[in-house]
Amino acid sequence: MIHLKNVDKWYGDFHALSDVTFDIAKGEVIVICGPSGSGKSTLIRTLNRLEEIQSGSIVVDGQDIHEKGLDVNLFRSRIGFVFQQFNLFPHLTALQNCTLALTRLKHVAKNDARERCMGLLERVGLADKAHSFPAQLSGGQQQRVAIARALAMSPPVMLFDEPTSALDPEMVGEVLQVIKDLAQDGMTMVCVTHEMGFAREVCDRVVFMDKGMILDVAAPDDFFCHPDHPRARKFLADILAPMAGVSCDLI
Ligand code: ADP
Repeated sequence: MIHLKNVDKWYGDFHALSDVTFDIAKGEVIVICGPSGSGKSTLIRTLNRLEEIQSGSIVVDGQDIHEKGLDVNLFRSRIGFVFQQFNLFPHLTALQNCTLALTRLKHVAKNDARERCMGLLERVGLADKAHSFPAQLSGGQQQRVAIARALAMSPPVMLFDEPTSALDPEMVGEVLQVIKDLAQDGMTMVCVTHEMGFAREVCDRVVFMDKGMILDVAAPDDFFCHPDHPRARKFLADILAPMAGVSCDLI
């Protein structure tokens, strides 16, 4: 579903992604983790062409996304991207936020778009909030609307860039549950997150990055209990330090 080959990305003279090669199969759930500034967000943003690359290739669902002549807006609208900040239009209701791209970009009839999006809002547990504006919703509810909005375009892949980092702790669970349900339904997903419990429970493979490079790719049990790379061991030790005394089985 996603193929990255020898991808290099520079911000000026800063080498943000270094020779990244990685394949993701249809239906796989990948969690990208690593220290702050390691290039996780840059990597996931290149998959949606929110960032340009300087060399290498990225193919998503059969489309070479850095090909000249690509209709970037159309391509982006086909891939579900959920941001840390929910990026909902404040002057539109939850339902209108979800139907907008369907009616504007896909030219779906308004009633059909409404029906489809009501179903999606129900799926994320928000049918009763369809006519609320973002300011009337909690952070967790806004993020669930953002997920429903991304799903409206029937994306072949969903990309999540720290989807729970802007939420109050008590709202993290409701958003992770929606993402877990999507994973169980077989959606191909890439998720940058610091939620290691979620990663352990839900993903098929963990990708560990540091300094713009992929240093380790492993099944979650292997990654959390026997990380191969010394940098991964240090990363896990650092994030688990506040949970001192909690065994690896409880991550
Ligand atoms: P992560 O998501 O792992 O925290 P990022 O992908 O956001 O890391 O950033 C990787 C590195 O690239 C960081 O050192 C960051 O400062 C740098 N960076 C990110 N975006 C830009 C930008 N637009 N211009 C210059 N440097 C950037």
